[in-house]
Amino acid sequence: PVVTRFAPSPTGTLHIGGARTALFNWLYARGRDGKFLLRIEDTDKARSTDENRQAILDGLGWLGLDWDGEPISQAERANRHAEVAQQMLADGTAYKCFSSQDEIEAFREAARAEGRSTLYQSPWRDVPDADHPDAPFAVRLKTPQDGQTLIKDRVQGDVTWGNDQLDDMVLLRSDGTPTYMLAVVVDDHDMGVTHVIRGDDHLANAARQIGIYRAMGWDEPIWAHIPLIFGPDGKKLSKRHGATGAAEYQAMGYPAAGMRNYLTRLGWSHGDDEFFTDAQARDWFDLDGIGKSPARFDLKKLENLCGQHIAASSDAALLQEAEAFLTATGQLNLTEGQRDGLLRAMPHVKERAKTLPELLDKARFVLESRPLDLDEKAAQTLDPVSKGILTDLTPQLQDASWDRDTLEEVTGQIAAANGLKFGKLAAPLRAALAGRTVTPSVFDMMLVLGRDETIARLEEAAA
Ligand code: GLU
Repeated sequence: PVVTRFAPSPTGTLHIGGARTALFNWLYARGRDGKFLLRIEDTDKARSTDENRQAILDGLGWLGLDWDGEPISQAERANRHAEVAQQMLADGTAYKCFSSQDEIEAFREAARAEGRSTLYQSPWRDVPDADHPDAPFAVRLKTPQDGQTLIKDRVQGDVTWGNDQLDDMVLLRSDGTPTYMLAVVVDDHDMGVTHVIRGDDHLANAARQIGIYRAMGWDEPIWAHIPLIFGPDGKKLSKRHGATGAAEYQAMGYPAAGMRNYLTRLGWSHGDDEFFTDAQARDWFDLDGIGKSPARFDLKKLENLCGQHIAASSDAALLQEAEAFLTATGQLNLTEGQRDGLLRAMPHVKERAKTLPELLDKARFVLESRPLDLDEKAAQTLDPVSKGILTDLTPQLQDASWDRDTLEEVTGQIAAANGLKFGKLAAPLRAALAGRTVTPSVFDMMLVLGRDETIARLEEAAA
């Protein structure tokens, strides 16, 4: 069974790159009846915060990336990490190093001066059973000194690392705390992780981590190091390119399904397919489709896909998402009436909206109640002539059957009777019905508002 994991450090919130890593792991597991686990790498006590941890969970929640079981805290597993280091000492795959910080520094300085590798070579490596009761020591991995370490990577291909490039890394510091490198391997092993899918900034770590797997005789996971995300200029995505946090995209109102679709395509492809549903993504996603070169973040493409997802969503699902957006951004709690209106308006406003705020803006006519707040243009449109026409129109609407054809016919007749094209009547009608001049179609609005509300708005505007 496939087991993947996302292992964020709560030293920051959820970044677009992290969200994509999480998404790839989630898709891979969910498409294979596997498990997707979440591990919070909170060992850096100084820089990890509860707020960041919560922001990461919230970001994953927004994107619908549910994890199996409880999130695992790496820091809480420190005893287990130390236990494995002790096991390695007992097995002779690790050794106690009594070198002081000063000695290590002196070694490095001398190496630098002589132009040798500054990778520390501990004199304790070959001292069997070294023991100095009371003296502090670090536990170091006994790394092979020659040969190569091969990383068989599903994205990068075979990557070899000269073992002379790897020092005897510290597993346990002299204060007894485990290092990151040890913690990651022990956790991945204990969690039964079968596939490590993560950013290629961790590729060099894999070479070191493999050393720990070998020392313990554990099976290596399948590695897939994915290229980082670049900005449109081909440089690593950063604040300079605009928003980089998942929460920022949530706040801008990009729908989660569109975001998932876009992030799935960011560095992974399936033929020419751009738009796909979650079910298709789960069925199609695999490691072979991950590209070897960095994907570039393209806001236009994101917006295009978001627009398609909004148009393709069911009205009820969109209502739910719009409401969640309004709540998350602390804007407004919908009343029962507004909710009903929004649901009825959905079919008329969901085409061509790229974000939830755009959708809500189009639907504003149904969220507002009388007396409407008219914007300046709308107020200007309602001159005495227009008001007179609106006054002529209302009695006709009183008895008209409430369907598009009839409504078009009735308003067309009133326009003609006043020697106008319907187009001339559209602006005051928009102003009367929505308080603005840029709105969905007049007849859509009438149908959504219903007879009584339509007439009430026209009367109010004509008064
Ligand atoms: N905690 C690491 C990070 O946030 C990820 C480590 C891993 O995936 O192995 O970059």
